Amino acid sequence: MEKYDVIVIGGGPGGLAAAYPLAAGGKRVLVVERDLWGGTCPNYGCDPKKMLYSAVQAKKRAARMTRAGLVGIPDINWPNLMAFKTSYTETVPTGTRAGLVDQRIAVVDGEAHFVDEQTIVVGEQSFWGADIIIATGLQPVLPNVPGSSLVQTSRDFLEMPQMPQKIAFIGAGYVGMELANIAAAAGAEVHIIMHGDRALRAFPAAAVTALETEMATGHVYFHKNVTLDAIEPLGNGVRLMAPDFTLDVQQVFAAMGRRPDDQLMLNRGRIRSTPQGILVNDHLQTSNPHVYAIGDVVAKTQPKLTPVAGYEGRYVAAQILGDTEPITYPAIPVTVYGALEVAQVGLSEAEAKAAPDYYTINTQDVTHWYTYNRTLEPHASVTIIKAKATDEVVGAVVVSSSAEDLINVLTVAINQHLTAEAVNAMIFAYPSEASDLSYLL
Ligand SMILES: Cc1cc2nc3c(=O)[nH]c(=O)nc-3n(C[C@H](O)[C@H](O)[C@H](O)COP(=O)(O)OP(=O)(O)OC[C@H]3O[C@@H](n4cnc5c(N)ncnc54)[C@H](O)[C@@H]3O)c2cc1C
Repeated sequence: MEKYDVIVIGGGPGGLAAAYPLAAGGKRVLVVERDLWGGTCPNYGCDPKKMLYSAVQAKKRAARMTRAGLVGIPDINWPNLMAFKTSYTETVPTGTRAGLVDQRIAVVDGEAHFVDEQTIVVGEQSFWGADIIIATGLQPVLPNVPGSSLVQTSRDFLEMPQMPQKIAFIGAGYVGMELANIAAAAGAEVHIIMHGDRALRAFPAAAVTALETEMATGHVYFHKNVTLDAIEPLGNGVRLMAPDFTLDVQQVFAAMGRRPDDQLMLNRGRIRSTPQGILVNDHLQTSNPHVYAIGDVVAKTQPKLTPVAGYEGRYVAAQILGDTEPITYPAIPVTVYGALEVAQVGLSEAEAKAAPDYYTINTQDVTHWYTYNRTLEPHASVTIIKAKATDEVVGAVVVSSSAEDLINVLTVAINQHLTAEAVNAMIFAYPSEASDLSYLL
């Protein structure tokens, strides 16, 4: 049996962020990956999605600017856009694997399972680790109804060779909303089937309504309070059925969230978990002190996003190399890249509303401000939450076609505990979204 200082299960953003510093710190490291090296984000998550989104963004902006002198709205050629995406994604697995080997990190292809507290098997091989890091991510949830095998996943969508004329998404989380926006801009009639009546429940209702309104202008139809009870094959597609509801589409995709799978045989490693993920303490240690868990697979309140997985990977590497501090998280921005970008960071509006003695909430509709009028934005708004006692910025919500830029600036302000006065003492490039800050804070 081969022995390692550290075994990392999963070669995604979390596992990789742990493996490199551990190897640089002199540890003998093994990484096991059962599928595509690089994991979800660069192969079938954030990165390919945002490559498709880039064309959608350009098309939408061009369409708006036809009211300001631009002539003609460009079309999306789906196979060519897919080829552009693939030109990036096809390099990821081999490049990632080679990068590890280059740093003298051992790699094994295959699915890992626990045998005991410090031993895993991959196929016929057994490996022992002084420490083991679980970084195995999540799998898409499929509807539990007859015909669920007809439902595809976000991964299938991101590899779809042709865009169908009519498609549906089950679920209105950020993945469903983002992919629906891409499909609609590429010419499909898109239906979103929602179990409840709220999309993107973690975001303020007004921001979500602005996004839904913009999506509705672009052939996206929301079906709220619909609980599917069966899916049937049709000649050229599927029929989605619920009480008093029938919808025929060519393809249907699940966007109902993601859950850990149960392949790891955690019980043999004495590792406790719930359906939301692996339970960890404030050092990201599981119930087995030799085993850590990082990234999406962890049951946690922080958003399950790539930079969070990377942060946790670096944190656990530092722990194994000798640090002892419990983990603390900075403010984490979350952005939905939809027909509008909806982004928030820090203290939420709901939390601030619940403590009116401590916080001020200032929402401004900035649609007609110069910054957003310049590109004929359909809707733009900025919410700033400040602590009354210190005047520090503690939270923000931005809705616009480019909210990711302003939310990053506000993330710096929050993490650095900047007051409105301190931000206003800075000079930003003008004219830009950041140069509006003095009017927003
Ligand atoms: C469609 C989509 C869009 C997204 N967009 C964004 C975005 O815009 N921004 C953002 O920050 N995040 C986004 N995410 C989330 C992001 O992809 C994840 O947060 C991130 O990939 C988590 O990293 P991880 O290392 O925890 O897990 P993963 O990236 O999922 O990596 C886990 C790896 O472990 C492997 N594995 C699993 N089980 C085993 C086993 N038993 N043995 C060996 N290997 C195993 C898997 O094959 C996988 O490669 C998106 C996700 C999806 C699905």
